[in-house]
Amino acid sequence: MSNNIRLRFPPSPTGKIHIGNMRTALFNWLVTKQKDGELVLRIEDTDQARSTKEFEDIIIQEMEWLGLDADEGVGIGGDYGPYRQTERIDLYQEYADKLLESGYAYKCYCTKDELDEMRQKAIDNDEMPRYDGSCRNLSEEERKAYEAEGRKPVLRFKLPEEEREIIVEDLIRGNVSFSSSVLDDFIIFKSDGMPTYNFAVVIDDALMKISHVIRGEDHLSNTPKQILIYEALDFELPKFAHLPLILDENKAKLKKRGKDSVYIGEFREQGYLPEALFNFMALLGWSSGDEEEILSQAEIIERFDIEDVNKSGAVFDREKLNWMNGKYIRAANLDRIVELALPFLLESGLVDKEYIENNREWLSKVIDETRTGVDYLSQIPEEAELFLTEIEFAEPAEAAEEFKGDDVKLVFDTLKEKAFAREELTEETVGEIFKELKNELDVGGRTIYHPTRLAITGKGSGPEMTSVISIFGAEEVARRLDTALELAQNY
Ligand code: GLU
Repeated sequence: MSNNIRLRFPPSPTGKIHIGNMRTALFNWLVTKQKDGELVLRIEDTDQARSTKEFEDIIIQEMEWLGLDADEGVGIGGDYGPYRQTERIDLYQEYADKLLESGYAYKCYCTKDELDEMRQKAIDNDEMPRYDGSCRNLSEEERKAYEAEGRKPVLRFKLPEEEREIIVEDLIRGNVSFSSSVLDDFIIFKSDGMPTYNFAVVIDDALMKISHVIRGEDHLSNTPKQILIYEALDFELPKFAHLPLILDENKAKLKKRGKDSVYIGEFREQGYLPEALFNFMALLGWSSGDEEEILSQAEIIERFDIEDVNKSGAVFDREKLNWMNGKYIRAANLDRIVELALPFLLESGLVDKEYIENNREWLSKVIDETRTGVDYLSQIPEEAELFLTEIEFAEPAEAAEEFKGDDVKLVFDTLKEKAFAREELTEETVGEIFKELKNELDVGGRTIYHPTRLAITGKGSGPEMTSVISIFGAEEVARRLDTALELAQNY
C-alpha cells in the first residue's frame, strides 16, 4: 500500500489487556480499514519489571479473537522492525546521542535523594515540583567527578529557554495548547539504559512512518513533550487524536487492574460473542449518528469517522452490552452457538462427552431454545438444566397435592393423547393443543397450566410451555406426566 496511512497500536504487556486498550486498538483498526492503511502492532516492553511474554501473548490472542488484525508488527514482521521496544535499544541510543550532540539533551547526575529534596523544597514554597536544571550546564570536570563517584547519569531533554506554547492539533479536540512552563527537563533515557516512554514512542512512530497517533486521553499531557522531541530531531509530526476515557457506571475512570477491571478474556470466557463486543466497543465514544445501535462490522467501518468521536468520557454500560450480546446470540448461526455453548454445559456437569456425542441434535434444540433467554452463553446451563435432568421436587408431598384429583388426571391424559396424535410438536401445534384443552375440557385454566408446568419442568414458573413441550416431544412429556400422576398416588 502506498497511500502512507499508517497507524499503530503499541500496548505495554504489563497486564491482561482490558477494554480501554482494546477500544484504542479497535479505533486504530477502523481508521486503517477505512482509509486502506496499515496497522502496526508494536510491543512497548521497556518496563522490564512488569512486562511479560504471557501478557504479550494475551494481547495477540484477544486481538485475534475480536478480528482486529494488524498488518505489521510483533508476530507478523514487516519492513520497520524489530517491533518490540527492548529489541530497539540501539536505535534509541543513536537518536539520544544525536540530541546530546545537538544540545537538546544533557546528562543529569542528580541522585534520588537530591531530587527528593528538590521536590520537597518546591512543595514547601508552594511551587510545582519540577527538575531545577542543576545539571544543565555541568563542566567536563564536574561530569568526570560525578562519574568517578560512580553516579550513573540519566539523560534529560532540555526545554526551550524561552517559555513557549506547544500546540497539539487533535483530530477530536481541535487545538490544545500547552505552555512549556508546565513542563520540566524530562528524562528520555533512564540510568538502567532504557529509554522512557515519551522518547521511545517518538523514535518508533517516526521511524515506522506512522501517520496517525490515536490513543487514550490519559496520554494527552505527554504529547507536548513528544512534540518537542519531534521538533528537535526534525521529524515530521503525525496527526494526533486522543480518545475519551472510559468511565464506569459511577462515572469514575474504569480500572485497569484489580477486581473491577475488565480484562477482554473475561468476556470470551463468559460467552460474549466477539462481534457483540466489537459493536459495543465501537460505540464507546462514537455513535453512528442515528438511533440504530446494532451495527455490523462493515457498517461501522463505513460510518466511523475519528473526527466524530466525543470529547467527553464514554460510560461502560454493562446492561447495554448484555442486551446487545443477547441480540447477537439469537441472530447467530445455531451450529456456531452450539459449539460455543457445549463447553459451558460440559463444565456445569449437566452433560458429559458421551452424552454430547449421542444427543447432539437434542442438545442443539435445547440450546436453540435456551439462547432466547440469555445475555451470555455461560448462562445457558442454568436455563438448560430443566431439559437435562430428572425432576426432583424439593417438597414431594406438596407437589403431589398439585397432581391429585380427577381434573388433573383428565388434563394430563388428554394432553398426552393429543400430543401423540400430532405428527410433529411445534410451538404452534402445542399452542393449538392447549386451546383445545381449554375449549373441550370443563376445567379451569389454572388446572390446565399449573400442574402441567410443574409436572414437566419441576417448577412453578419458567420458559414458555409451548416451547418446552415442543422440545421434549410427546414421549418425554408423557413420561413426565405419568411420573407426576404416580407421585400423586403414592402420597
Ligand atoms: N504503551 C503505551 C500505552 O499502552 C502507548 C501509548 C501510545 O499510544 O503512545 O499506554
